[in-house]
Amino acid sequence: MERFYTFNRYLRGIFGERVQRISLDAGFDCPNLDGTLDENGCIYCNNKAFARYCGYKKPLEEQISESIKFYSKKLGVKKYIAYFQSFSNTYAEVYQLRQRYEVIRKFPQIVGLSISTRPDCVDEDKLKFISGYNKDYLVWIEYGLQTTNNYILEKINRCHTYEDFLKAYLLTRKYKINVGVHLILGLPSATYKVMMEDARRISELDIQGLKFHLLHVLVGSKLEELYKQKEVELMSLKEYVRLVCDFLERIPPKVAILRLVSTASRDYLLAPFWMNDKVKVIEEIKKELHKRNSYQGDFCESISCENKKR
Ligand code: SF4
Repeated sequence: MERFYTFNRYLRGIFGERVQRISLDAGFDCPNLDGTLDENGCIYCNNKAFARYCGYKKPLEEQISESIKFYSKKLGVKKYIAYFQSFSNTYAEVYQLRQRYEVIRKFPQIVGLSISTRPDCVDEDKLKFISGYNKDYLVWIEYGLQTTNNYILEKINRCHTYEDFLKAYLLTRKYKINVGVHLILGLPSATYKVMMEDARRISELDIQGLKFHLLHVLVGSKLEELYKQKEVELMSLKEYVRLVCDFLERIPPKVAILRLVSTASRDYLLAPFWMNDKVKVIEEIKKELHKRNSYQGDFCESISCENKKR
């Protein structure tokens, strides 16, 4: 039995078969880059490194058909989730969101809509509109939170607070949309205590998914400067594995783990390179949990975990 609740298991539980997420670039911008909040972005950001289509935008329809063709041929996948990933995918008016999202209706293979965004880029109208897809699709919004610590959020130039996230989260749950939270482990000034406090706070929320991201340095980011000036320390594989396991032990077992470690393009990644060996990182995490004989949620203190422990 797996010691943590994978997103694949969650999807199989709903659809009875493998479901593949297709990463899309819908051409949205970000208020932290376009000057609305700031022009410099988060200190670790170089958005070119993330998405497959960034830099040479193709029409969404083309992005989707190419990916479906690829995964159906390679892995025999029949069902897909359209994952609007690049930049802030609710940073537009409702009519513009509709123009972009509606493309999924052209593909009967698409069973889900997943939207990645910032917590300060949603409001009641947008969430009400997005919740309309609940009728035909599995709908998720993934919020980039990174940490619940406001001092660190300011330090990494997120230009939003934990309270902004809480507001967006409550509104999103009000419209019965699944919430995924994106957290970064190893941020500057994030001590072990701070990260465990993140785990404790997150474990008390009614979220459906959690995505881990390891702090890494991308060429062209502000973090590159800090790293070269030796002002930032990066985690070793061993440290990361221990930390993810400590985190998992404190998160309710019902929260699906969307990802255990991030990867980045070799063209942009400066350090640490070990993170791109995803298979090894996941294996090490599994080994560590096995060694501890522990499972996701074993040390979870939230009310939702009571009476659910092994
Ligand atoms: S919110 Fe995302 S896209 Fe915007 S600056 Fe931060 S990391 Fe980059």
